Amino acid sequence: MTKNIPELYGSLVFNDKVMKQKLPKDVYKTLRKTIENGTHLELDVANSVAVAMKEWAVELGATHFTHWFQPMTGFTAEKHDSFISPTDNGEVLMEFSGKELVKGEPDASSFPSGGLRATFEARGYTAWDPTSPAFVKDGTLYIPTAFCSYSGEALDKKTPLLRSMEALSKEATKILHLLGHPEVTGVSTTVGPEQEYFLIKKEDYMKRKDLIFTGRTLLGAQPPKGQEMEDHYFGSLKPQVAAFMHDLDEELWKLGIPAKTKHNEVAPAQHELAPVFDTANIAVDHNQLTMELMKKIADKHDLVCLLHEKPFDGINGSGKHNNWSMVTNTGVNLLDPGKTPAENIQFLVFLVAVIKAVDEYADLMRLSVASAGNDHRLGANEAPPAIVSIFLGDELTGVLKAITNDEFFGKIDKVQMNIGATVLPHFSKDTTDRNRTSPFAFTGNKFEFRMLGSSLSVAGPNVVLNSAVAESLSEFYEELKDVPADAMCDAVHKLVKETLSKHKRIIFNGNGYSDDWVLEAEKRGLYNFKSTPDVLPCFIADKNIELFTKHQIFTEAEIQSRYEILLENYSKTIRIEAKTLSDMIKKEFLPALLAYADQVTCTVADRKKIVDLPCTQEIKLITSLSSSYEKISCLEEQLEADTAKAETIEDALALAHFYHESIIPTMDAIREVADAAESLLPHDALPYPGYSDMLFYV
Ligand code: ADP
Ligand code: MG
Repeated sequence: MTKNIPELYGSLVFNDKVMKQKLPKDVYKTLRKTIENGTHLELDVANSVAVAMKEWAVELGATHFTHWFQPMTGFTAEKHDSFISPTDNGEVLMEFSGKELVKGEPDASSFPSGGLRATFEARGYTAWDPTSPAFVKDGTLYIPTAFCSYSGEALDKKTPLLRSMEALSKEATKILHLLGHPEVTGVSTTVGPEQEYFLIKKEDYMKRKDLIFTGRTLLGAQPPKGQEMEDHYFGSLKPQVAAFMHDLDEELWKLGIPAKTKHNEVAPAQHELAPVFDTANIAVDHNQLTMELMKKIADKHDLVCLLHEKPFDGINGSGKHNNWSMVTNTGVNLLDPGKTPAENIQFLVFLVAVIKAVDEYADLMRLSVASAGNDHRLGANEAPPAIVSIFLGDELTGVLKAITNDEFFGKIDKVQMNIGATVLPHFSKDTTDRNRTSPFAFTGNKFEFRMLGSSLSVAGPNVVLNSAVAESLSEFYEELKDVPADAMCDAVHKLVKETLSKHKRIIFNGNGYSDDWVLEAEKRGLYNFKSTPDVLPCFIADKNIELFTKHQIFTEAEIQSRYEILLENYSKTIRIEAKTLSDMIKKEFLPALLAYADQVTCTVADRKKIVDLPCTQEIKLITSLSSSYEKISCLEEQLEADTAKAETIEDALALAHFYHESIIPTMDAIREVADAAESLLPHDALPYPGYSDMLFYV
């Protein structure tokens, strides 16, 4: 039976329609105002909303509520309280108050705070975020909240995002007023994150400690076939995968998450899901929920969803594309060039604001996507390079060039594509053609930031983008604010031209994978941070502290704490990987190697008793196995010694560098020998599934 999708869609969300139905008219109006303009909500209004929310949630089977928040772990957190309230006569009422809706007090001591929360003050606060709708999941009413310390410092990913959206809205609105749009009272940032992931069989996953503990394979010989046939991308979906996607879509739709596109990706066992975009805050919440549901629903189908950036060596890793734009409260997309971008002054102002922002804060953009997992992708010829640059496409580049050279820009006629068959409709060739190698590409009416790792919360990159663009716009405002209206057009033209000549170095339409680009980028003075420990110190650079504090995105203490958390996360991740690798090598791989070498040795000895043959090939095999054993053992010893040494390094940055420069190379060396040795083993000698098993049987 086919389900009624429009009826299903958002059926578990306390959305506008439900609010209108369930709330008294004046309460609804006040709440709308809070959602749209961030006005303060009085307690009596909150009480009224709480009652309606609870009644609605109970009807949907909810017995509990939770303040749902996004601590610095990158995951979401929740603590469930039931609605029940015992009465004197031994019965219970289902109760939920405005106070409970608005504020929670979880113990914050077990969440990363980077030294912000003194241990003697364990209390933290969660505060209701009315701009992201509440929803019911698994019998609980989920209330999206921000999470902060007792003294009000942000301990989460949502708070700075909301602050950055506010900063951008404020600055963009000021500019729009100068450009003759007094009707605009706010600007939202919109985000559409495309999410990549892998699906493998649960039974395989359960046998691999590396996947369980680190999310990626630390060992594994290449299968005979990888992704070279390019037969998986957009390939037809296998039944188990199709069933998973079907369930996933349905669950997402119920939660009002507009899952739109799904397809197989380039690598075997890799897939992608893209939603329709939403305001940044909601998109971030939805992406967190999507990742969570992917894991949960995969489990129901006896699959495991891998969100790590590089689960398998030798084939593509997974990323996330952060499509980003700005829209006015009157519904105008500020990055829409319209039919004649050269004459669209408003578009040009916002376009060059982004160009300036990305050039000036390219280090922060790179930092916002830095993680141990993403280090495997960036610059590895499958994902964007680690150098941040902007792709604009031919048409826009032409427009901007004409402006810089004071030439008249004759619009490029869109090339009619003739695809042969007359029955097919003709369409114009998209002038912002795809350049997959670009980390930050203009794609028609939005920018696509492509450096994000698949497991990353999309909050961080959007905080940086919003803050940096807010700063460009605030500088523009200072330049334009005293210009009389009749001179505005010329002043804007001059500003656009000057900004472009200053920041054109960040624009690059060529092949980001080529070695020439690395040299060229260096000549242009662009950053090229190759690893997470390399880029993290940028967080505390003066210019970046200035940006964040000026726009009230972070306090200096918050920046320092986040810097520490990022460093710590990196070192912890590599430490777990090193320990897991040691464990697998000692307890699984080396014993397997030894057992097989023994088996071949016995066979040869037995054989020699009855036949008079030199058995040179068998002996060669034994030699190879033994020599691999020797090499791997020695390297593993070194890895253990180095991991022990790491424990003695106190400086967090020095420690991160030690993991990057000493531990990772040893892990790589172990892997190289072990993977070569794995290919000598018969299929059933390996105590866990190999790449061929995992990648081609879902
Ligand atoms: P692709 O990049 O795969 O060709 P699309 O161009 O259709 O796909 O869009 C990719 C993503 O960009 C989708 O999630 C879509 O909702 C989102 N998107 C489209 N317009 C905007 C916008 N104005 N702001 C933010 N995201 C947008
Ligand atoms: Mg895309």
